[in-house]
Amino acid sequence: MPLIQLTNVSKSYTDPGSGAQVPVLRGINLAIEAGESVAIVGPSGCGKSTLLNILGTLDQADTGEVTFDGESLAGLTAQKLAALRSQKIGFIFQMHHLMPQCSALENVLLPTLALKKAPGDALQRAESLLEQVGLKERMNWKPAQLSGGERQRVAFVRALINQPQLILADEPTGALDETNAAALTDLLLTLQKSSGVTLVMVTHHRAQADRMGRVLTIHEGVLQ
Ligand code: ADP
Ligand code: ADP
Repeated sequence: MPLIQLTNVSKSYTDPGSGAQVPVLRGINLAIEAGESVAIVGPSGCGKSTLLNILGTLDQADTGEVTFDGESLAGLTAQKLAALRSQKIGFIFQMHHLMPQCSALENVLLPTLALKKAPGDALQRAESLLEQVGLKERMNWKPAQLSGGERQRVAFVRALINQPQLILADEPTGALDETNAAALTDLLLTLQKSSGVTLVMVTHHRAQADRMGRVLTIHEGVLQ
């Protein structure tokens, strides 16, 4: 059974000028297996983020069916969806969205507060993950004291802390130079492989997309 399955998913937006419905995703069929690494590529505005947000239950399809871990999302309340997100999905975006007043370590631990029962070893796990991404000496530093690449590493560890089944990454390297972007992709893939988590990443860096297990291209709202 795939971790995520989209069947005939479509999504439109209303054009604020004309009021017309503008299709963004059209008849998307997609199955992602647990443990896969998948890149989503395509020109700006082609619907990559919209697809990622539907995968992450942040946005809803207009038509079609989405299942996560065998469960249809259609019948779930907003509360159930929020619980599913905090337990099973980790997010990383182009901007790190770290809390400026909290240290790297505190930022990593924040998502554990959303769980009814945080894993008992959360602190140890946070320290170990920060060490694995090369931030052992900087875990008490605040975001402003870290480089762009280091901040994204903290954001990635924060996405992993609740041991999610799925990591969704929306242009995580988009604000980094080539060297730092390649280093972050290395880390994402190393930890993805060692933890077995499923990784879906939107990127416009073709070289980085090609390092993932599978590359999906969106063209005019259709998966190629
Ligand atoms: P990408 O991530 O590939 O750049 P997006 O998924 O962000 O593309 O957007 C796809 C299209 O949908 C764009 O034309 C964008 O303007 C439009 N769009 C995205 N979100 C909204 C929204 N909330 N309201 C109206 N239009 C939107
Ligand atoms: P490209 O579109 O060539 O792949 P990048 O994704 O590397 O470009 O960078 C996107 C934008 O972010 C560019 O305008 C670039 O100048 C800027 N940028 C790249 N690295 C940094 C950085 N470390 N800090 C701030 N802006 C950056």
